[in-house]
Amino acid sequence: MAAVSTVGVVGAGAAGLAVATFLADAGVRVEILEKSDSPSTLGSGITLQGNALRVLHQLGVWERMTEHGYAFNDLGLRAPNPEGTVVAILDDVQTGGPELPATFGMYRPTLAGIMRQRALDAGVVISHGKSVHSLQDIGDGVQVTTEDGAVLHYDLLVGADGLHSTVRRSIGIDVEPQPVGMGIWRAFVPRPDEVVRTDLTYGGRCFIAGYCPTGENDMYAYLVERAQDRHGHKDAGIMAELAAAYGGPWNDIRQSLLDGAPVNYTHFTQHVVEGAWNRGRSVIIGDAAHSCPPTIAQGAAMALEDAAVLAELLIVSDRVDEKLWEQFHSRRVERATEVVKASTQLAQWLLDGERDADVPGLMGNLAARLVVPA
Ligand SMILES: Cc1cc2nc3c(=O)[nH]c(=O)nc-3n(C[C@H](O)[C@H](O)[C@H](O)COP(=O)(O)OP(=O)(O)OC[C@H]3O[C@@H](n4cnc5c(N)ncnc54)[C@H](O)[C@@H]3O)c2cc1C
Repeated sequence: MAAVSTVGVVGAGAAGLAVATFLADAGVRVEILEKSDSPSTLGSGITLQGNALRVLHQLGVWERMTEHGYAFNDLGLRAPNPEGTVVAILDDVQTGGPELPATFGMYRPTLAGIMRQRALDAGVVISHGKSVHSLQDIGDGVQVTTEDGAVLHYDLLVGADGLHSTVRRSIGIDVEPQPVGMGIWRAFVPRPDEVVRTDLTYGGRCFIAGYCPTGENDMYAYLVERAQDRHGHKDAGIMAELAAAYGGPWNDIRQSLLDGAPVNYTHFTQHVVEGAWNRGRSVIIGDAAHSCPPTIAQGAAMALEDAAVLAELLIVSDRVDEKLWEQFHSRRVERATEVVKASTQLAQWLLDGERDADVPGLMGNLAARLVVPA
């Protein structure tokens, strides 16, 4: 018998959909409150590492994902020259175990759609247009008030409401995401035949030029630059101009940009809540609790792991008490902190132009840690 009968989850992102599904599978009544009016059909690609795939496999969506995405087990490095010369192809660690690929690229809205359908099939109620305004701990539960004035009660509330979490602020945690000093252009474009894995180019006009195949016919490409005031920018021309420094598949990518491929621009942030992630019966997970620059592509992986561990503890425990929160804290905070620190360190080395940094050492140590399930 799970420790709770009803759970409210704020946010229908990766963290919210995963925790809701795990709990609903165990017989808990779960409602997701999502502020957007409808499921998002826009977006770019996502790079999922093995440890993220392990949770998605546990969730029962891996087989459906393989009908859409693109799996690979290596990582290429290219020179920032007009030919885009391949200088190394490195074996990547299969952090989700040998039966799952090291890396899987996917179109974000497709992944979101698969996870959403799985949650609905498990009996999760997903209420759109419900923006959480405030909450109040009432001892053996939480009272939630939404912007439209609805008052709802749950045995437990999970704040999976992302970077600018209302739940985090409402429960008095005053940690906020901090800018890292980098901005990223991302474009969703047709996949040239020679793109069969992620290749990264360090240097040239940008800190990083990279891409990840997301299916037989598509991929996403990205350029990371020093942060500039370009929020909400959708001008593919600027990205095409920056891409002019790179060769190989970038010649095709540049043409797709000039043909009007959709692009977006956003800044990197980092933060981690080092103390407890709960106050009473409200708890935050995913980007609400931590964020990292996607230099190692671990943000969604950490969000999914948070969801799996929280659900597991709620299902095997017969009460919500300090012991449960201590177990959750000890299984999540150190691991997430390590990921945030490593991702931020990599970004800082690039910003500082550090040439002798031990990047392989940093990546290797982290991968060795992530191979061990959360
Ligand atoms: C540029 C960039 C690239 C990235 N690339 C990768 C990558 O390749 N691989 C990877 O693993 N990670 C990547 N990440 C990180 C990853 O996107 C996030 O870590 C992950 O999406 C977090 O999921 P989440 O469910 O915690 O939050 P979100 O996906 O942000 O979901 C939060 C949800 O809560 C809803 N919400 C917010 N406030 C309220 C409210 N008050 N009431 C109700 N609903 C609310 C929002 O509408 C949203 O649907 C990247 C991040 C960035 C910025």
